[in-house]
Amino acid sequence: MLKKLLKQNIKTKGLQIKPGLKAASLDIAQISDINSLVYPLEDAKLNTYIPTVSIGDKVKKGQVIAEAENAHGLKILAALDGVIETIDEVKAPLPQKITPALIIKPDNKKYWFDDVFFNIDVKLDEYPKEMIFEKIVQANIQGLGGGLFLSAKKILGSNIEHIVLNAVECEPILNCDEAVLYNYLAEVLAGGIFLKNAAKAKTITIVLKENKKDLINHISHFVKNNEQFNGINLATVPDLYPSGAEKEILKHVFNTKLTSAQHATDHGFLMQNVMTCVSIFRAVTCDLPQLERVFSVFGKNIESPTNLVAPIGVTVEDILAFLKIDSNKVDSIRIGGLMMGEDIVKGTSRKHSALLKSSNGIILNTYEDKEVSECINCGECVKACPVDLVPNKMFKAAQADDFNSSYLKNLSECMNCNLCNYVCPSNIDLVGMFKYAKQQKAMIQEEQKRAEYINNLTQKKIERTKFEKQEKERIKQERKLARQKRLEEKQKKEQETNETTA
Ligand code: SF4
Ligand code: SF4
Repeated sequence: MLKKLLKQNIKTKGLQIKPGLKAASLDIAQISDINSLVYPLEDAKLNTYIPTVSIGDKVKKGQVIAEAENAHGLKILAALDGVIETIDEVKAPLPQKITPALIIKPDNKKYWFDDVFFNIDVKLDEYPKEMIFEKIVQANIQGLGGGLFLSAKKILGSNIEHIVLNAVECEPILNCDEAVLYNYLAEVLAGGIFLKNAAKAKTITIVLKENKKDLINHISHFVKNNEQFNGINLATVPDLYPSGAEKEILKHVFNTKLTSAQHATDHGFLMQNVMTCVSIFRAVTCDLPQLERVFSVFGKNIESPTNLVAPIGVTVEDILAFLKIDSNKVDSIRIGGLMMGEDIVKGTSRKHSALLKSSNGIILNTYEDKEVSECINCGECVKACPVDLVPNKMFKAAQADDFNSSYLKNLSECMNCNLCNYVCPSNIDLVGMFKYAKQQKAMIQEEQKRAEYINNLTQKKIERTKFEKQEKERIKQERKLARQKRLEEKQKKEQETNETTA
């Protein structure tokens, strides 16, 4: 029986954003033709990747083609058989950044989906936890909600007690998670049970927006009629942006507050986006690597907004061609959500823009070139910030490169949610400045760490030299004493011999 959690009496800050665009159909269309696949060697979390293949190499579907430089275990897999055609420069999933990317020309441009569905006869609890973990590692499963964390690493978090399936989807208009729940509910819940068993957790809770009444009823009905999913909890959060952020869910639903340095796993929670659970289900039951994702395509003047499933790395050109949208009539392409996505505007490089694991939407023709003016100290950004930061003061400190300012002390609390930008009447890009400040602070910390390391080495060397000198002196003294002792013994012996002779 699906249980409903009592709502915690915690005030959630945020805004209801209704941009007046048409949401995508909840059916999921499957892309057919793929002309090229593009894999940038830098991701939205600043991880850089080293190719494990060279230009001209033949690659197989599911083959590792690049590995993260920082050895975090992140990998890029080819989604189709093909040839590494080139390594070209593309716009990274970061603002104003260009990064090299591996470009694959598929052998066969028709894409084949391995659709795998839950079978009622499969006993989910019979899968050993070690096997589940191993298959999740093999399938290279990362969180598709945007965090990109490796699911296997989350399972290893200490003392996981609660699995939280995040279906909040707070970005306005985006509804790919909702489409996944309508089309793959059994697979989502089965993936959640695999996670629970692998992490030896006690509970599973699925979290949704409270206004999704039909979806809540659909899930309740399904769980009630499927014994294996009995005991799964349901919780809701208000229809506000950004109520789907991990910290906001934990605060609102579980009355747990994370500090900036903490992750949900530090408090015994493992949170996973619902689409990631489908990847887990497929990996565990059919050894399928995580090669595809569902995303919403919508925008201004788009008659048939669509939820589409496509391989990671598919180009925006192939997506537009499949949806029969003339790319010459598209002024701007936003990859990601309306609030947190990145715009690729006509005139800037759109070449090889691609769908990545972190891309939950492709939004067309919504970019507006806004005139920026001086801060008028209206305080709207301060009122809007869901984590009680002071964006206007932070902006000024970051602009002056004053990274020791008390206003930037809690910069890591900033979720880049963009609410401050959204409400600012002067159209100041506060968040762009915060991203810059975070990079600078990270570099400063890195340099400090390096300086501390060198200082430590120097200190150790000084101590070692001092110790060696003391040791030499000690040995010298010991030898001197031994010599003296031998001499005394010799003299004593000679004296005794002389006395005997006399
Ligand atoms: S982007 Fe950061 S500073 Fe701006 S509202 Fe969101 S959390 Fe607050
Ligand atoms: S909302 Fe914009 S104008 Fe108002 S205080 Fe914040 S930065 Fe300044």
